[in-house]
Amino acid sequence: MTIWNQIKNLFSRSKPAAQESSRGMALEATQTTLTQDMMVELMHRLEITTENAYCCDEVFALLDEYVELVADDEEARQLMPLVKNHLDMCPDCRDEYEVLLHVLKTAESE
Ligand SMILES: [Zn+2]
Repeated sequence: MTIWNQIKNLFSRSKPAAQESSRGMALEATQTTLTQDMMVELMHRLEITTENAYCCDEVFALLDEYVELVADDEEARQLMPLVKNHLDMCPDCRDEYEVLLHVLKTAESE
């Protein structure tokens, strides 16, 4: 199931409840807020679920780019959260990442 299908499901489930409500704007506004919060929560969760996590090959393909971003700017961890997440979980890729980072930093300082 794709991220967007999961989001559509979330909205299609929450919508009828809002329409059935006859208690007016206040409740509807609350439900809209809740839905937005849920959406943010959902997006955050989807980012870090194993279902959407990169495999080692995908991380390896992106590692050069990621290491360059990290060397330039620590914000890379936010730009590529799935790579970071995989590196947190996978010692093999983390070793590879640390070697690349070391090589890059050594090359830069020469
Ligand atoms: Zn890995």
